[in-house]
Amino acid sequence: MVPFKGRSFLRQYLPNKPKKWGFKLWGRCDASGFLHDFNVYQGKGTGIDVKGMKDCGLGGNVVISLCESLDRDCGYKVFADNFFSNFNMVKQLKSRGLEYTGTINKNRIHNAPLKSDNELNKKGRGSHSTVSVKDNDIALTKWKETKTVTMVSTYLTAEPVSKVTRYDKSRKVHVEVDRPNVVEVYNKKMGGVDLLDMMCSLYKRQIKGKRWYMYIFYHTLTIAMVNAWFLYKRDCVINGVRKPMPLKLFQSSVAEVFLKKDRPVSARVGRPLSMLQSPPATKKGHYTPAPPTEVRLDKVDHFPVAHQKRNRCRHCGNGYTQWKCRKCDVFLCLTPGAQPRNCFLTYHSN
Ligand SMILES: [Zn+2]
Ligand SMILES: [Zn+2]
Repeated sequence: MVPFKGRSFLRQYLPNKPKKWGFKLWGRCDASGFLHDFNVYQGKGTGIDVKGMKDCGLGGNVVISLCESLDRDCGYKVFADNFFSNFNMVKQLKSRGLEYTGTINKNRIHNAPLKSDNELNKKGRGSHSTVSVKDNDIALTKWKETKTVTMVSTYLTAEPVSKVTRYDKSRKVHVEVDRPNVVEVYNKKMGGVDLLDMMCSLYKRQIKGKRWYMYIFYHTLTIAMVNAWFLYKRDCVINGVRKPMPLKLFQSSVAEVFLKKDRPVSARVGRPLSMLQSPPATKKGHYTPAPPTEVRLDKVDHFPVAHQKRNRCRHCGNGYTQWKCRKCDVFLCLTPGAQPRNCFLTYHSN
């Protein structure tokens, strides 16, 4: 959802959202939150047409259109909630070589012979019932937790059942409750879209203006930034980096690279200087963050500037020096004599 109150034929009214007017975007994310495909809601029955697709209602059509960009028969598994689920859509996905799991509304299960809510209530928390329908292509599982929930899946059923700990209010103790496999997997894999939404709402560019398409354009930039951060976090795990940068720091270092990489310190047209320079390190003990690697190694305009006071070298950490790089804004040894040290060179070369 991109909030927007001005005029546009794409604007929607969403009564359940904190900001009720705006553009509605449908997205397909993976479990980590990375967005793979999206489209803009353009009113009922528009913008989500797929060749050879049978009508599956709004939610179903959205799923099929967003899955069009997935390679067929690669074993992809799609997860979505009850807004999107219906038998028609699930069958069509299956015929396109995609598996599906989701919650489903009771009025969409076509009187499948699942046990009634009353029966499950009598059996108590953790009880469940499974049936297969549509030539055994679709499995339905109903599970009683605090309420009953019904799941639809093309490849998951209740088995193997696992245990989860829940709090029993009436007895005031923790109890172990049976949980069907389909619920466990669904809970693990869902939530990518919500995570992306949450991360996108954190450090957005505030824009003002009447041109509606700019709101969508800037939202795609925000998504690109968050997507890049998800990839960066994945790489950190692979490379054993223990403390990945939080999104805020990552975003500012990307901005810094765009502003400084391959640019001389003085060539600044049309932008305030304060945006481009690191804040001056005036206070004692103030730590100037190191420049991003891309800027440090760009070989443009890194010149030594002499300072009045000596400071510890950023590169070797042992020596004291008066020389600072004017672009990186860090102290670096540049010491002649019997034991010469040129941290200035090494810092900017690898
Ligand atoms: Zn040094
Ligand atoms: Zn430098």
